[in-house]
Amino acid sequence: MRIILLGPPGSGKGTQGKLIEKKYKVPHISTGDLLRKEVEEGTPLGKEAEAIMRRGELVSDDVMIKMIWERVIQSEYQKGYVLDGFPRTIAQAQKLEEVDQKHDEVAIEIHLSDQTVLERLASRRVCPHCERIYNLLLQPPIKNEHCDKCAAKLIQREDDRPEVIKDRLKVYHQQTKPLIDHYSQKKVFFRIDGQASIEDIFMKICLILDKKFANSTEAAVTE
Ligand code: AMP
Repeated sequence: MRIILLGPPGSGKGTQGKLIEKKYKVPHISTGDLLRKEVEEGTPLGKEAEAIMRRGELVSDDVMIKMIWERVIQSEYQKGYVLDGFPRTIAQAQKLEEVDQKHDEVAIEIHLSDQTVLERLASRRVCPHCERIYNLLLQPPIKNEHCDKCAAKLIQREDDRPEVIKDRLKVYHQQTKPLIDHYSQKKVFFRIDGQASIEDIFMKICLILDKKFANSTEAAVTE
């Protein structure tokens, strides 16, 4: 099964992606995390992507498709995977369907209003060390702005600054929202209210996935 998580920045795709990975034993691919790693390591791709990401714009389809393609052909992805942050354009979705015709597909949107996105991202913090995500209001760390797991001082992502969030939302509405129509037409689209708790959202995702796996030739491997 190819599980595609859609939703604006800050809707919790990363958190849910990791939960799905753990329960269904399918690798979680976050293109945002992969790009941030390239930036951190100072690779040519990282250097190219850094300024684009800082402005909240999209990295080119060609670069992103290559990044996904290199992964999905590997053996560990053959039993399926969960995508977070990809596809972000219709061109990416079409290319993905072309390069991986093996898996059934399901697209789940975690829906949030723009206002909630702005509020949430302003209080999102990440651990620069282990990449654990916190929200100072909804999921605060135990010790003020330090990671519970590795004690590093939490940071705000460059592109979570309010002025960049507005641009990211604009890009989401213009380029990524058309994917909702794309997957609706393919009858593989589901929408979940992103205001619910992490546990409730995950429960709803599991209901969708369990049903999908039950109707699919692909078997789910769960904990
Ligand atoms: P994310 O962590 O998913 O919010 O991604 C952070 C940033 O990485 C985005 O604002 C884009 O600049 C870039 N990015 C991540 N995934 C993609 C993609 N599929 N296509 C183009 N740019 C992407």
